[in-house]
Amino acid sequence: MNYYSLNHKAPNTTFKNAVIKGLAPDRGLYFPESITPLPKSFFENIDKLTYQEIAFEALKQFVLPEIPKDELKRIINETLSFDFPVVELNKNISTLELFHGPTMAFKDVGARFMARCLGYFNKDNREQVTVLVATSGDTGGAVANGFLGVKGVNVVILYPSGKVSDIQEKQLTTLGQNITALEVDGVFDDCQDMVKRAFLDEDLTSKMQLTSANSINIARWLPQLLYFMFAYKQLYNQYDNIVFSVPSGNFGNVCAGMMAQQLGLPVKHFVASNNENNVVTTYLKTENYNPKPSVQTISNAMDVGNPSNFIRIQEIYKSDFETLKNNLSSFSFTDEETKAAMKEIYNNHHYVADPHGAIGYLGAKFYLKENPNAHCVFLETAHPVKFLDVVEDVIKEEQKLPRQIQSVMNGKKVSIKISEYNELASYLLNKNTHN
Ligand SMILES: *Cc1c(COP(=O)(O)O)cnc(C)c1O
Repeated sequence: MNYYSLNHKAPNTTFKNAVIKGLAPDRGLYFPESITPLPKSFFENIDKLTYQEIAFEALKQFVLPEIPKDELKRIINETLSFDFPVVELNKNISTLELFHGPTMAFKDVGARFMARCLGYFNKDNREQVTVLVATSGDTGGAVANGFLGVKGVNVVILYPSGKVSDIQEKQLTTLGQNITALEVDGVFDDCQDMVKRAFLDEDLTSKMQLTSANSINIARWLPQLLYFMFAYKQLYNQYDNIVFSVPSGNFGNVCAGMMAQQLGLPVKHFVASNNENNVVTTYLKTENYNPKPSVQTISNAMDVGNPSNFIRIQEIYKSDFETLKNNLSSFSFTDEETKAAMKEIYNNHHYVADPHGAIGYLGAKFYLKENPNAHCVFLETAHPVKFLDVVEDVIKEEQKLPRQIQSVMNGKKVSIKISEYNELASYLLNKNTHN
């Protein structure tokens, strides 16, 4: 499969190149040249397929032949080594738990898949690839874990000192091997700015191969379409009119759901559930798209003022506002509403949700008010212990740390402190000459 740039000023390229480069030379996001729906029978019999079989059928058109069939199967088997259970709260609402991976956030699948694709492409290459990533918390942990030990790939993670949770910091700083954590004296935006500057720094990019590992990269974005198929597999025998409520920040996850729908998955509607960073909610009301600086909330993985994947959604709907509106609703909620929802889910359903999942739940409830015949699945994108302070404060019950988290809490933090761009550049250049 070839990919084109959504800025339309760069040549089309292969899956391999798109994964290695991350972004097209004209700074556009890559998008597949074609999307061929799967046969109806695939969805009619999906309950008889394993997660791995579903993944292979759904992803092969995007990946073959540059990754051969058997290699793709291996990559899928290694990526999907944990469960994706649906938990029904009542006959109208379920939650799809996406936090059973090694770092307990939904980004594990994309990070593991991308790491293995890069590892495959780089296996005979003597030149190292450096994955550079800025994180406000979850992305860094998933990427560090996904890429740990992958040959030929170095990972450099920038995180804002003192602004990530203890658990998140341990997930970034204790792994060692090919993972380095740079602790930035600043906020997330400073980390993000340094990363952007590095990609534009020709002195650096002429000497080393840099790539990104956020959802602009197709290998991190596309496998997320599987979640929607996995939920459908578990629910379609019981319910019609399946709707997904997706807690959204950069809109990569919900956009992947729309790709699943393009492949033929019978989805009735999508709800993008937002915190007070409400660019898309406002757009669907007014048709005005106004990116703005992000505001800080308790669902901080969604504190995004200018969602990078929205342009892919526009591509799927050919920028037709009415078609988009018929298929996507969006609601925004405050921190107070989020906390009240966490309490309600706990009291009414004995279920502990994290702040992101709680926003998904609120979106589902809002949609159901107008559409009482739907079955709404909200995505639970992180395990509640990843947001321990808020969760324990709201539901007044101590949470047990799962095994994945306990083991990382015993590790020793190792980070390199930096405060300005020049320190990042010289770190990268030095590291490169020593390899
Ligand atoms: C990244 C993240 C999101 C937002 O996903 P997008 O694909 O950026 O919309 C939601 N919840 C959690 C816990 C996350 O880590």
